[in-house]
Amino acid sequence: MLGIFNKGSANLPAGKAGNPKYIFVVGGVMSGIGKGVATSGIARILKSKGFKVTAIKIDPYINVDAGTMNPTEHGEVFVLDDGYETDQDMGNYERFLDETLPSINYMTTGRVYQEVIRRERNLEYKGKNVEVVPDIPLEIIRRIEEAQKTANAEITLTEIGGTIGEYQNIIFLEAARMLKQKYPHDVALVMVSYVPIPNNVGEMKTKPTQYAARSLNSVGLQADVILARAAVPLDQKRKEKIAIFCNILPDRVISAPDLESIYDAPINYEKDGLGNILCDVLGLPERKTDLSEWEAFVAKSKNATRELNIAVVGKYFDSGEFTLADSYISVLEALKAAAYHQGAKVKISYINSKDIETGEKKVEDLKNFDGIVVPGGFGEKGIEGIISSIRFARENKIPYFGLCYGMQLATIEYARNVVGLEGANTIETDPKAPHPIIDVMPDQKEKITKQDYGGTMRLGTYEAALKEGTIVREAYGKSEVSERHRHRYEVNPEYIEKLEAAGLIFSGKSPSGVLMEIAELPREKHPFFLGTQFHPELLSRPLNPHPLFMAFIRAASERNKS
Ligand code: GLN
Repeated sequence: MLGIFNKGSANLPAGKAGNPKYIFVVGGVMSGIGKGVATSGIARILKSKGFKVTAIKIDPYINVDAGTMNPTEHGEVFVLDDGYETDQDMGNYERFLDETLPSINYMTTGRVYQEVIRRERNLEYKGKNVEVVPDIPLEIIRRIEEAQKTANAEITLTEIGGTIGEYQNIIFLEAARMLKQKYPHDVALVMVSYVPIPNNVGEMKTKPTQYAARSLNSVGLQADVILARAAVPLDQKRKEKIAIFCNILPDRVISAPDLESIYDAPINYEKDGLGNILCDVLGLPERKTDLSEWEAFVAKSKNATRELNIAVVGKYFDSGEFTLADSYISVLEALKAAAYHQGAKVKISYINSKDIETGEKKVEDLKNFDGIVVPGGFGEKGIEGIISSIRFARENKIPYFGLCYGMQLATIEYARNVVGLEGANTIETDPKAPHPIIDVMPDQKEKITKQDYGGTMRLGTYEAALKEGTIVREAYGKSEVSERHRHRYEVNPEYIEKLEAAGLIFSGKSPSGVLMEIAELPREKHPFFLGTQFHPELLSRPLNPHPLFMAFIRAASERNKS
C-alpha cells in the first residue's frame, strides 16, 4: 500500500524523535469556535518549547485563492509576502508565530485540483487513471511535506477548515488518514470541539462532541487530543465523559473556555499541559515551555489603562443583521498591538460609511474620536461617505490613517477639496471621471477588459523609498521599506505635481519613482494625516507592532490627552 506514495517523499522509519512531526487540527460540532486561534496557540506553545514550527491552512473551497471571496462572506483576505491571497487564519499564524509564511502553507480544494489536472494534462500520470482517491490526497500530502521541507519544520501543523461530517473537507481528512498510515507515530490529531450549555438545561452537554468524534472515526481517524471549547472551563466529570465516549485519555481533554483575549489561548492551553501532551503523542521528549515573551505582551494588554476611541470607517460590515468585524481583523490586531505597547488600549467603533451617506450617522460625530482609520476596500458602495469622513478628519485635525483604498480616497478628497478639481475620482467607481486621480495600472487594464479578475492585482511585497523629513521616514527609522500590497489602481502620475503643489507629500514611492506608495500632510498642517497604498496591518505582529500603527496610536494618544 505504501507504494502509492510518491517516490522521493521522505521514507523515514516511524516514531523517531528526529522525524518530521505533523499535527492536524480539525473542527467538531460547528464552525466559528476558533480552530484558527487553537492552531495558532498550539504553534506558539511548540515554538516556545524551542521547536521549529510551521502552520498550514486548508480551505475546502473551490476558489483557487481567497482573492475572489467577498470579505463579508469569508472575512479578511490575508496576503502573504509572495502575493498569495489567503484566509485570515494565515494572519493569525504569522502573528502568533511572529514569522513570515510562504504560499505553500495555504491550499484550497480548487488549488489542489488545479495542480492535479495540470499534471494530468501534462501527461505526468503516464496514462494511468487519475482518481479522486488516492491522487487528490497525495497532492495534499505532497504540499504538506513541501511546506515542512521549506520551513525545515520539526513540527508542521495543518488546520483543516470546515467541520467534521460535512462533505467538503472529507478529502483532506482522507489525506490526514493517509499521512498517518505512512508515518503512524509521527502524526497527531487535535479535534477542536464545542460543548454547549443550553439555557433551559443549564448543564454542559458533551453529546455533540461524542458524535463528532464518531464521525471522525467513520473516516478512519481517531482524535488524540480534544480541545473542548465552551463558555466556561470544563469540570473533571465532563473531561471523563468526553474521554470515555471519544476514546481518549482524560488528561488529553483540554479545557478551552471563552477567553477575554485570543492571546490568552496558549497560556490557557498550557494550564492543561497541552504542549507536553502533544510531545507524548508524537514520541518527542517533553520540554519546558518558555512563554515569558508572550506573557509579557499579554500582561501589557491587561495593564493598559488609557482608552483610545478609534473609528474604523469602512464598507464591509453587513452580514444580514450582523456586523462583521472579521473583514478587518488584521487592522484591528495591528491597532491593538500598537496601543498595548504604549500602555493604551483601543475601543473600536465600526462605522458603516453607507450610514454617513444616508444621514443615519452624522459625520460631525467623528469629532468624538481620537483617530480615524479607513481600511482597504473595493467598488463604489459607501465611498462618498468615506470621502466626507476623510474631509472631516483633515479639516478638524483628527489623526487619520488610510490603508490602501483609504490612501486613494484621501488623495481624491484632497484633489477635490484642496486642489479644487471638481469630480476628481477613482476610475474604479467612475470610469469617466473628469479628473481620474486614481487610475488603473496599464498592465492590469487588459485583464480587466477581459473580465479576468482572479489574481490580477499588484500583490505581495514591494519596496518603497522614503522621503527625508517626513512622518514615515521618522516612524520607520530607515529610508527603504518593504510592504505587502493588494490593489489594482494607482495614484495617476499626471496629477502628482498639482497635488504636491497644494501641499500633499508623497513621502514613499516605488524605487523607480513611478508609483506613489505613501501620501501624508506635513506635521505643521495636521498632527497625523497619512495613507499607504500598501497594507501595513499585514506585517504587524503582537510582539513587533508596525511602526506606522505605532505612530498613528501616538498621535491618537496626544489627541486623547488634550
Ligand atoms: N480598490 C482599490 C484598488 O484596487 C484599493 C484596494 C484595497 O484597498 N485593497 O486599487
